[in-house]
Amino acid sequence: MTVAVVLFTSDLRLHDHPPLHTALQAADEVVPLFVLDAGIHAAGFDAPNRRAFLADCLSDLDSSLRHRGGRLVVRNGPVVREVRAVAAQCGAAEVHVAAGVTAYAQRREERLREELGEDGVALRVHETVITAVAPGAVTPSGSDHFAVFTPYFRRWSQVSSRRPLAAPRSVRVPDGVPGEPLPDRADVAGASPGLPAGGETAGRNRFARWSRSGLSRYEDRHDDLADDATSRLSPYLHFGALSPLELVHRARAHGGPGAEAFVRQVCWRDFHHQVLAARPETSVTDYRTRHDRWRDEEDAAEDIAAWRNGRTGYPVVDAAMRQLRHQGWMHNRARLLVASFLAKTLYVDWRIGARHFLDLLVDGDVVNNQLNWQWVAGTGTDTRPHRVLNPLVQAKRFDPDGTYVRRWVPELRSLTGRKVHEPWRLAAAEREGLDYPDPLVDLADGLARFKHARGRD
Ligand code: FAD
Repeated sequence: MTVAVVLFTSDLRLHDHPPLHTALQAADEVVPLFVLDAGIHAAGFDAPNRRAFLADCLSDLDSSLRHRGGRLVVRNGPVVREVRAVAAQCGAAEVHVAAGVTAYAQRREERLREELGEDGVALRVHETVITAVAPGAVTPSGSDHFAVFTPYFRRWSQVSSRRPLAAPRSVRVPDGVPGEPLPDRADVAGASPGLPAGGETAGRNRFARWSRSGLSRYEDRHDDLADDATSRLSPYLHFGALSPLELVHRARAHGGPGAEAFVRQVCWRDFHHQVLAARPETSVTDYRTRHDRWRDEEDAAEDIAAWRNGRTGYPVVDAAMRQLRHQGWMHNRARLLVASFLAKTLYVDWRIGARHFLDLLVDGDVVNNQLNWQWVAGTGTDTRPHRVLNPLVQAKRFDPDGTYVRRWVPELRSLTGRKVHEPWRLAAAEREGLDYPDPLVDLADGLARFKHARGRD
């Protein structure tokens, strides 16, 4: 009887899972394993929203495996130690894992290879399943990564990818491999009340439901804040409950401009991954320095707190920051405008904003979060690094009748239409009784400070 271990990491699903697929073909029995290692905190799983979502993903994976005759083995402890112990307990000859893309994952792979090797167990590292196209699979001549999205997208679109794999029909797990109880979402304190259910089943249902009408509307509606027309699949992609490759295949099979626009967004995810894989230090340091001398964090403390708490006096900014707290998620257009507001209008270091996002986002990860923050702050890959998004212009364009603001800022619900975007302009009688702050900063002053700081005045 041959046995193999499959180590699940950021790929918590049964569909389109090459390591599981290969292990099931190669061995008579397979141990599906997930290790809750303290190191996954560093890998960005640790905020309450992500811990809660992770718990859902693990219990869904366990229940899908049980439907196929298997189960998920969860262990607590250092990942290399636990993998070695499980491999020894079940007499495995091989451990299968998908290639990681972060520095943490690469270190894990190296140590696994070395230490399993000492036990005579082979580590089989499969192609990455975290992105649709592996970081480094396409490169421009003379560089190890693309620094500009559009040429990357062109080359990425020409990669002929493998077909997504079906979920296995049955999984035989050997007896006698002890595991810990699965983490339970109910035990996670401090998660946002409006957090969605995690797991592959919920993710697949969401895609099936959304794609029926969402894909064809996507191109026209994805920037509309109130319409909420985007897929909301990012947390499922973050935990690997959905395969990005499968989503791309299914969207392409659907066809049409909406599906194309959706595929382009999924490519942004791969784009950032290939940048960070080539420049791991940019999760912390500027990708391109603009010689910013950001405001001192202590001096800007009140502004930062107002931004975090959704009390800046700019209703669209406040609506977005409150949505983040309530749902652990924020619309992409809203992320762009609140990030621009913090980094450019308030001239606060993007790392402070990125940290707050990582504390709350259920899809929060160092790759997409840090590099999108850098993109907005103008220290990243944006080809127009000094542009500033004016929150009023953004509000009028993407929330034209104020529905999004009224949804998240109850103090302003009595205000009709677009005047909700500028409550400070209301007549005194209309403003009376509104428990809502005046604007934190004059937009023109903010712009002048930013231009001066970047030497563009
Ligand atoms: P859809 O519009 O339905 O797009 C489909 C998928 O494409 C998304 O699920 C996502 O995986 C990917 N995608 C879309 N836009 C982007 C983008 N700009 N960059 C990378 N991938 C993208 N996304 C994260 O997954 N994690 C983060 O931590 C994160 N932090 C961000 C911080 C800032 C300041 C900004 C401006 C954007 C950030 N994004 C992040 C990207 C984007 O906002 C979210 O992926 C998107 O809002 C998720 O919603 P959705 O699934 O409905 O997206």
